[in-house]
Amino acid sequence: MALFQTIKTPTVTYEQPLGLFINNEFVKGIEGKTFTTVNPHDENTIASVHEGTAADVDVAVKAARQAFNGPWSKVTPTERGRLLTKLADLLERDIDILAAIEALDNGKAVSMAKIDVTNSAGCIRYYGGWADKIYGQTIDTDSQNFTYTRHEPVGVCGQIIPWNFPLMMWAWKIGPAIATGNTVVMKTAEQTPLSALFAAKLVKEAGFPPGVINIISGFGNTAGAAVSAHMDIDKVAFTGSTLVGRTIMQAAAKSNLKKVTLELGGKSPNIVFPDANLDDAIGWVNFGIYFNHGQCCCAGSRILVHESIYDQFLSRFKQRAEQNIVGDPFHPQTFQGPQVSQRQFERIMEYISTGKNDGATVVTGGARHGDQGYYIQPTIFSDVNENMKIVKEEIFGPVCTVQKFKDEDDVIRIANNSNYGLAAAVHTTNLNTALRVSNAIKAGTVWVNNYNMLHYQVPFGGVKESGLGRELGSYALENYTQIKAVRVYLGNVPF
Ligand code: ADP
Repeated sequence: MALFQTIKTPTVTYEQPLGLFINNEFVKGIEGKTFTTVNPHDENTIASVHEGTAADVDVAVKAARQAFNGPWSKVTPTERGRLLTKLADLLERDIDILAAIEALDNGKAVSMAKIDVTNSAGCIRYYGGWADKIYGQTIDTDSQNFTYTRHEPVGVCGQIIPWNFPLMMWAWKIGPAIATGNTVVMKTAEQTPLSALFAAKLVKEAGFPPGVINIISGFGNTAGAAVSAHMDIDKVAFTGSTLVGRTIMQAAAKSNLKKVTLELGGKSPNIVFPDANLDDAIGWVNFGIYFNHGQCCCAGSRILVHESIYDQFLSRFKQRAEQNIVGDPFHPQTFQGPQVSQRQFERIMEYISTGKNDGATVVTGGARHGDQGYYIQPTIFSDVNENMKIVKEEIFGPVCTVQKFKDEDDVIRIANNSNYGLAAAVHTTNLNTALRVSNAIKAGTVWVNNYNMLHYQVPFGGVKESGLGRELGSYALENYTQIKAVRVYLGNVPF
């Protein structure tokens, strides 16, 4: 099978790489396998890509190790920064192509995909700025010693990314790893391999030495498992389900105790107090759950509304949700496209029927949208209780539950009644309420009077079963450096 293919989208025609990206070349998989990627809008095959398995992961790790020990270790921090900045420029240059790939392969609206590309470039550029600002400390213990620390790269980093923000997850992972001098073997999600391969072409064009960034398309239980169990990968960073996160950590423990960072699921509470500006709160609540078709680990899927405004909130939120334009990702007005895959579509539809069977009320939606593609109507459930599956489990689709609360203590208890702790939001015009509740919520991020406003300068990650470590901001650099303490003794031998 070919290594490149011309792909026509409604907005652009471009050359799509199909091979694995190892040592700056697109290559076939060793086992000669391929797999197809499907357009969730019309359920047709977009392309077949070469499939990487454990043997290819091994080749990529060797390439990454060689680069890490050799040429890459000689590249100055300033040059690393320059390469990242150049890569950011190239991502921006090709924004129309990359946005079209995301719309085609993932199903997100092309207008939203452009924001993803802009943020991906911003993230890569931001970490380019960090590359020559990685400092250790000097530590004054006493006059007989000179002690300093070095923040050294961890080594070869395995990175396993999901399909919900294919390019942005690529950027979040590559930025801090490369800025700090590591090399990367990344396994992309089998549902959305295309944008990472196109971006790999830009890696080469930017001038990165061979072996620094390697991209493997393939499946979780083969290529992904090979990354997490590899004896010569020093660190694994994973974004995906909590279920798979546990497997990754076990594989790391059983193999070489590679360092692990995990960004996992959520069931994030979105709290509306009676003094909130209701129009704004409804806008953010709507965006909080339906952005990216609910396929966000931080989706505001548990909406908690004070009992005094509950009825009014529910009827206005219903109206707002019904205004969301669901349809073809390439239509300029579209807000919500199809779910990424048939499997996800079926999982979500199953949750919807569980909700109905458990006695929850469907306020709006609750069914498939149209009769082709993996589209689901924006869905709101009310009359739910804390023990229902749809309130406890991550649905990862355009489905939310709305619950009543009595007072601040009550809502803090309900909000924290979850195994997850990724994000939360508080809508109120009272500053004290906002700060008190933000402090009391067990989550890695709290948004006040907004939702889903992520930024590459701001750390992101979870507490409880939502993950380990933080991505983004300066905090992510800690995942990709290890500290060496050097003590130089200046006196006479005291013993
Ligand atoms: P989802 O259920 O939303 O697809 P997953 O957590 O299964 O989320 O997938 C996220 C990423 O993890 C994907 O790249 C997938 O291929 C990978 N993955 C799935 N299973 C494993 C596994 N056992 N080991 C390593 N990676 C895996």
